[in-house]
Amino acid sequence: MISYSYMDSVENKIKNGETLDENEIVYLYDSASLRDLGRLARSITDEISGNRVSFVSNLILNYTNICNVRCHFCAFYRKQTDSDAYTLSVDGVVDEIKKYYEPYGIKQLLIQGGVNSFLDLSYYTELFQRIKKEFPRLGIHGLSTSELHFISLKAHIPVKDLLIKLRESGLETIPGAGGEILDGSVRKRMGRPEESGRQWLEIMEEAHKLGIHTSATMMFGHLETSMDKAHHMLSILELQKKYHGFLSFTPWNFEPGNTELAKEGYKYRSGGVSVLKNIAIARIVFNKDLPVIQSSWLTNGMQMAQMAILFGANDWGGTIYDEKVIPATGKQVGNLRKDYIINSIKQLNMIPVERDNMYRAIKTY
Ligand code: SF4
Repeated sequence: MISYSYMDSVENKIKNGETLDENEIVYLYDSASLRDLGRLARSITDEISGNRVSFVSNLILNYTNICNVRCHFCAFYRKQTDSDAYTLSVDGVVDEIKKYYEPYGIKQLLIQGGVNSFLDLSYYTELFQRIKKEFPRLGIHGLSTSELHFISLKAHIPVKDLLIKLRESGLETIPGAGGEILDGSVRKRMGRPEESGRQWLEIMEEAHKLGIHTSATMMFGHLETSMDKAHHMLSILELQKKYHGFLSFTPWNFEPGNTELAKEGYKYRSGGVSVLKNIAIARIVFNKDLPVIQSSWLTNGMQMAQMAILFGANDWGGTIYDEKVIPATGKQVGNLRKDYIINSIKQLNMIPVERDNMYRAIKTY
C-alpha cells in the first residue's frame, strides 16, 4: 500500500513535468515493480513519438586500439608494443569506409578509439576533412571526451578551441562514450582518473555552448549503486535543461569478458530485468526533456532491443559492420544490416523510421 502511494506520487510528478529527486530514483531502482516502470515509461514515450521507432544506417570505426588510460572495464585497449596494437592511417580509414558507404547507404560514422599519445591534432583534422570530402553524406559522430581531453592537452589548446577546429574540419556531433558512471569514487575504482566524470560534463557543456550536439550514456551492471545512477542521470538532466544539447541517452550494460573488473570479481553481465529497468527508469527520469532513449542492441542483442522498445526506448541505434570494442570482451555480436532492424521493429507492430546523425527523419518503412 505504501509503495503504491509512492509510485503514484512519482507518476504525478512526471505528469506535471517535475524533476524526480535522487531518493525517488533510488526507489524506482530498488522497490518499484518492473511492470509499473514499463507502463509509465512506455506511456511517456507514446506521447513523445507514438509508435515510431527510429534507427540510423551507421558505421562504427575504431581507428586505433592503442590507449594510455587502461580502464578496468575495457578489453579493447592495447599498449603500443602489443602485437595486435593498430592505428589506421587516414587512407586506411577512407578505405574502410569505402567498403560500406555506398553498398549500405551509410549516413552516420561513429568514429572513436583509444587515447593514443602518438597521434597529433593534425591527424584528426586531416582525417575529418578527408572523410567529409570523400563521403559528403556522412555525419561524423566522433571522439569520446577522454580522446578530446587528451588531444587538447597534447595540442596545448583549450577544449573550446579544439572543438571549433574539429567542427571546421567536419566533426558534427560527439558520442557519449566515457560517461560510464560520473561519480569520482566509482571511476577511480574502475581505473579512470577520479576527475574524469567532471571533465565529461565540462566538455559536454563546452560543446553545447558552441551549438555542437552530443549523446549521453550510462554504463551499468558493475560496481555502481542505485544512488550513483541517480546522481549520474540528474547531472545530465541538469545540463540538458540549460542547453538542450543532448540528442539521446543510451544506458548500456558492462560486458565483463577479458576485463580487469572481471578479475576483481565483477564477472557476471546484467540480466534482462536489469536492462529493461535501466531503460524504463531513464525514460521516466528524462521524461520529455530528453526525447530519445536508445536501446543498445550491441550489448543486449536483438530480442532485448525489441523488449527495450516496449519499456520506453524509441530509437534502435544503428546498423553495425565489424565493430571491434565489444568483440574484444569475447562476446560475438556479428553484423546488423538495415533490413534486420526494419523487420524487428515491424514485428512490434511499430513504424521503422530511418534517421540521420542529427535525428532528422529520412524515410519511413
Ligand atoms: S574505455 Fe576507452 S579510454 Fe578506457 S581503456 Fe578502453 S579505449 Fe581506453
